[in-house]
Amino acid sequence: MKATKPLVGSGAAESAAAKEVRCPVCDSRDPHIFVTGERDYGREIIRSFGFYLCPKCRLRFQLVGDDEAATLFADVQESAARSRPSARRELRCDEDVLRCMQGMSSGRRLFEIGPGDGRFLAAARNHGFDCLGLDVSEGLAQSAAARAQVQVMVGKLTEVDVPGGPFDWVNLDQVLMYVPNPQPFMQKVFELMRPGGICRIRENNPDSVLARLHGKRYWMYSPTHVAVWAERTVRLLAEKTGLRIMRVIPGSECSLANWQASSRRSTFSTKIKDTAFYLIRKTRLLGISLAADTVYYLRRPEN
Ligand SMILES: [Zn+2]
Repeated sequence: MKATKPLVGSGAAESAAAKEVRCPVCDSRDPHIFVTGERDYGREIIRSFGFYLCPKCRLRFQLVGDDEAATLFADVQESAARSRPSARRELRCDEDVLRCMQGMSSGRRLFEIGPGDGRFLAAARNHGFDCLGLDVSEGLAQSAAARAQVQVMVGKLTEVDVPGGPFDWVNLDQVLMYVPNPQPFMQKVFELMRPGGICRIRENNPDSVLARLHGKRYWMYSPTHVAVWAERTVRLLAEKTGLRIMRVIPGSECSLANWQASSRRSTFSTKIKDTAFYLIRKTRLLGISLAADTVYYLRRPEN
């Protein structure tokens, strides 16, 4: 059954036609509409939308306000929970992520924005991290807090007082895709990090080979996503914020063993396919990733 929502995206695009559109990352005045539609591929939300492409930094973005972005986020979470409960197998590779993090820093103060179901916070707590969460959704915050047994605040990052900082770690796992104003958002992240602290970002790169093969039908161009982050855009945002890119991981931190173990089937042919897909996801040629899923580690300089 389809859930039809009020039209927002195309309306925003039309009203934007009468005023200047600026890229929210590089401030370029040259973004242009490059994809419009109303389908949420594979999910159940129908809502007119329009994505702009910034020719300078490659960000793809919708024109939405903070409140509307929070509503879109809530919609996609409800929809995903309803129709694709097993689609996010990478999120269950929390142990691999924590192993990677512990290899970079011995710090244990962790702030996770958008903790989702709270499984990562729970895993981090079991590894001895001192955890705090924040979510715009009260329902998600409650369920994450209950699962992880840590405090999860409710609100928008730029509007709340965050106790317990500065932090050794800030985790933004598929969060920037719901943030319409990333510059003040990341400035607050910077202020919450201790000098030498690390911010982990995971996003889907629309300039990757596989995303480009899908063109305008790439699934990230959907009504519920606010922005799609190319690697160039993440690098520019880091630079503007004062953070330095330490490491870019194509695919994710997930190990091959966990990738295979998280498959819903374990036949020989499934293992071969999973291994091939895993290797494709980890491949970078001349600085270009084949697959879209990408993890970035950004460090705040010591001084
Ligand atoms: Zn831009």
